[in-house]
This record gives sequence, C-alpha cells and structure tokens, in this order.
Amino acid sequence: MDNDKKGKKRIRRINVKRITKTVKKLFIEANTVLGKDVVEALRKSLSQEESATGKQVLEKIMENADIACRCKMPICQDTGLAVLFVEIGQDVHIVGGDLYAAIEEGVRQAYADGYLRKSVCDPLTRKNTQDNTPAIIHVDIVAGDRLKIIAMPKGGGSENMSAAKMLTPAAGSDGIKKFVLETVEQAGANPCPPVIIGVGIGGSLEEACILAKKALLRPVGEANGKDERLAQMEKELYTGINDLGIGPGGLGGRVTTLSVNVEMMPCHIASLPVAVNIQCHVARHKEETI
Ligand code: SF4
Repeated sequence: MDNDKKGKKRIRRINVKRITKTVKKLFIEANTVLGKDVVEALRKSLSQEESATGKQVLEKIMENADIACRCKMPICQDTGLAVLFVEIGQDVHIVGGDLYAAIEEGVRQAYADGYLRKSVCDPLTRKNTQDNTPAIIHVDIVAGDRLKIIAMPKGGGSENMSAAKMLTPAAGSDGIKKFVLETVEQAGANPCPPVIIGVGIGGSLEEACILAKKALLRPVGEANGKDERLAQMEKELYTGINDLGIGPGGLGGRVTTLSVNVEMMPCHIASLPVAVNIQCHVARHKEETI
C-alpha cells in the first residue's frame, strides 16, 4: 500500500474481475496438478509399504497424478465441493462488485470451462445446482493491503468420513487420540487412503471443524512448529493410524496416512471440542496472493 502526498495510508483497490479470474485459475489448477509435497510423500511411502498390492496401488496413484498433470485432466472424477479460505487485508477495498458474487462466478467458470464435474445439489431433492455453486467461503480480515485466496476442492468420499465431537475436559489428550483413531478406523477404505488427517482441537464446535480443515493446508509431513505437544501428538497418531493396517486403497498395508496435522486453540473450561477432517490422497489446494 502506498502513502499519499500527505503521508496518509491509501487504501488499495482490487477489482472483483481480478478475483473471479484468480478463483477460476486456482480451481482448474488445483484439480489437475497435485502439490509437490503430496507427490513427494507418495513417492516416499512407496519404500515404506510392505504389501505388494499396497505398492501397486501407490504406483497407480502416482501414475494417475502424473497423467492428470501432463494432460491437464482432473486427478479424480470427484472434482469436489469448492471450499475457499480468503484473507483480506484491512487496507483493501474491493471495487466493481460484490466479493462473494465474484468468487462464485470464478467457481462457476472454473467448473464449466475446466470441464470439472459439478457435484453440488439440494440436500433434500438431490437436484444438482448445475454449476458447482454455492461455494463454501471462509473469510478472515488480516493486516495489510493484500488479498490471499486459497482454493480447496474437497472430495465427498473423504469429507463423509470426517467427524466432530464435544469431549469432556477429562478426556484429555488420550481421549482426543482415541477419537481420531476410531474415526479413521471406522472410515476404512471409504476416504480413498492413503489419507491426510486434519485435526482441530479447541474453540467451539464450528471452530474446531474449521481448524481441522485449515490443518489440511499445512504441507504434508511438516510437523506443527508452534507447539511441541501437538508435534508429539501428530507423531503418535501417524504411527497409530498406520498400525491400523487399512493400507493404500483400503486393501491392506502399512501406508494408511501420509500425514497427521493437528491445530489447536483455547476453548471453554467445560468443553473439549475435537474435529477430524479426513482428506484423501487427492489432496488439492492452490493459493495466490493478489
Ligand atoms: S475421496 Fe478423493 S480420491 Fe476418493 S473419489 Fe473423492 S476426491 Fe476422489
């Protein structure tokens, strides 16, 4: 952001057209190009997998991601619900229209022009909305004059197996780990393993769910660098989940998860909210800062 001649801060203007264009680009890219961290984690997991079938599944997963990237094709037929995390600098002024409408238009264009499956419907009639909207848009106001957009297409199979629970404070760290392990065990093959597990602890019911989803944005295999207790919990859960033996594709093996990412915030003295957001191996998200 520039200062004007009197030294006062000037508000930075961002036109909604730029937002629409960025959202469109990010959703097409996210659906066709798997992140380097995921590809690297899959490659590493190949040497950890002991089951021959598990190894074969991992090889096919990597081959599929490679073909998708080279041929600009979706990595999976389920091109997801359009989830966005948007950070708006408090010195930004959105001009030329409405922010939410601009984002929805970007999603609409991405799913139409990118030939991505439209997967959104009325929950009761199951009638498809035809353009993959509405999107799920989370907005945070932050310092500065930039606008960051994170596009995260989220597959239904893995989202279906996710869960949240209000534990009693006495459940503590052991209760949290038990709930995470039970959730992943019950999910079995349904969320297309190897999975990435996002865990949100604390806040309120809805905040724990948002934390769990945000945890999935952390690079695969990168430990929580802010809290040693959480880094330790991630390690233990990683081992515990891989000991379940679900394996790649749910066909048995060592590699059930590529990463467990835990985020936490304070909560009410009477509560211990925990959310587990399961992400399949098609762990898609792309971001851009305008
Ligand atoms: S859970 Fe993931 S890999 Fe499985 S069908 Fe859905 S998007 Fe595809």
